Amino acid sequence: MNSIWIDVKESSEKQLDSNIKREIVVVGGGIAGFLTAFRLAESGKKVTLIEAETLFSGVTHNTTAHIEALQDLIYSELIATSFENAKLFFDSQQDAISEYEKLVAKYNIDCNFKKVDSCLYAESEDSFLENEFQALKDIGSNAEYLHSPTILGRTVLGAIRLPNQAMFEPIKFLSSLPQNFEIIENNRVLDINFNKRIVYTSNAEIQAGKLVIATNFPIINFPGWYFLKMYKSTSYAISIDKSSDINGMYQSDPENGLTFRNYKDKLIVGGLDHRTGRDDKIGKFDRLYENGKKLTENGDSTHSWSTNDCITFDNLPYIGYYSKKSKDVFVISGFNKWGMANAMIGSMLISDMINGIENKYEKLFSPQRKKHGYLSMFKNMLCTMKNLLIVPILPPFKSSKSLKNDEGAIVFHKGLKKAVYRDAEGNLHICRAFCAHLGCQLNFNCNSKTWDCPCHGSRFDIDGNIICAPTVKDIKP
Ligand SMILES: Cc1cc2nc3c(=O)[nH]c(=O)nc-3n(C[C@H](O)[C@H](O)[C@H](O)COP(=O)(O)OP(=O)(O)OC[C@H]3O[C@@H](n4cnc5c(N)ncnc54)[C@H](O)[C@@H]3O)c2cc1C
Repeated sequence: MNSIWIDVKESSEKQLDSNIKREIVVVGGGIAGFLTAFRLAESGKKVTLIEAETLFSGVTHNTTAHIEALQDLIYSELIATSFENAKLFFDSQQDAISEYEKLVAKYNIDCNFKKVDSCLYAESEDSFLENEFQALKDIGSNAEYLHSPTILGRTVLGAIRLPNQAMFEPIKFLSSLPQNFEIIENNRVLDINFNKRIVYTSNAEIQAGKLVIATNFPIINFPGWYFLKMYKSTSYAISIDKSSDINGMYQSDPENGLTFRNYKDKLIVGGLDHRTGRDDKIGKFDRLYENGKKLTENGDSTHSWSTNDCITFDNLPYIGYYSKKSKDVFVISGFNKWGMANAMIGSMLISDMINGIENKYEKLFSPQRKKHGYLSMFKNMLCTMKNLLIVPILPPFKSSKSLKNDEGAIVFHKGLKKAVYRDAEGNLHICRAFCAHLGCQLNFNCNSKTWDCPCHGSRFDIDGNIICAPTVKDIKP
């Protein structure tokens, strides 16, 4: 499983083997952390970015890279509680697109950046689309409503079209920006003393003046309590060759939950979201292929990949002070699977906050904002309690002996509960059954062949190595 985007080689061989002191430390080298470090460095700050693996190897490497303000049904949901927030959010996403355009021109970046229209369409029921269009109209956007249009080769009930959105090659874009700050890769942050802003790795400590947590899911549990304020959702993507030009970006209705775009002569189809760790149906990639194949000349699937992103209960990201306890620790997270535009706008916001510059989006994205979605938050807490307290004491149905080849499950192995995967050759890969973050029982994802946490979305490979935060420890036996 590997995404279509290029891999980035380690950009620094810097080792961290003695304690250091730095003005600003950004933890996490995905799009959010990297753009924040870049912005701050451009404003004259001395910045150090610390990344557990290599730059952009996390969720960012697995995006489908639509940069757009049309995002599922967000405006009808936001406008239901605040007209002002819906309008501001739309403006923020449009500002992000303009900023990408400026940076691509300024640094002459060859990353297939292309302005295109985006379409959200409905096949069987379009009342949700009309509500979304009404909200987009009310906030003054230039969206259009299309009745019975032909979308991706067939007539559908309706569609919203938003012009002048963008798509690009994310890793080429990011790796072409000036790296005008210190980068330390292959150093996982294992702990943070929040009050003293000391970052601990396995070999050394960094004393930070200011700290930005950009680890996708925040790794500090207290203060902040992000583990109660967010969860993770997994999605899948494939690329298919011999594609026709579909002329833009598309999102199907939420029920089908598919996205489409071209990349060179290929078609990228994404979607089939589900809460991480809570779906074990096989065949996700086959379903994506079936949906995309007809738009190609019987092309083959060239890449397939999957990852997860953070979901907030009021649909807005968390960008700003990590907690009201400190004005020196910041967070950038909760992108709801729309991190391309949100990371750009978030990086500008954090840079402004650190530089003492007023920013009109500070209140909108503030992690300390008055929250909506308390009911969803409560339901989420109950589910988490179930996976933390009840599921771990239930006996497993299987033993490791009963596993078929290429099957993984929580089983009894030598009298203990373990996460065991039997590979195609029949070898057993044995890991601990509980997440190293807060102890929820893991589930096997048979599509991506990963151990996924149903509570907060940490992910591990079949040998127990960390793939996704918030965990900072692996589950090797
Ligand atoms: C399948 C899929 C398709 C998507 N498509 C789109 C799209 O079309 N458009 C869009 O706008 N958004 C899309 N998104 C969302 C978008 O890709 C993400 O929101 C964005 O990439 C998240 O970036 P990030 O920097 O927060 O996370 P990451 O890229 O995961 O960066 C976090 C980094 O922190 C590092 N890290 C973690 N823990 C530690 C630690 N303890 N110490 C040091 N480093 C650590 C990780 O190694 C990682 O590199 C998609 C998401 C998915 C799942």
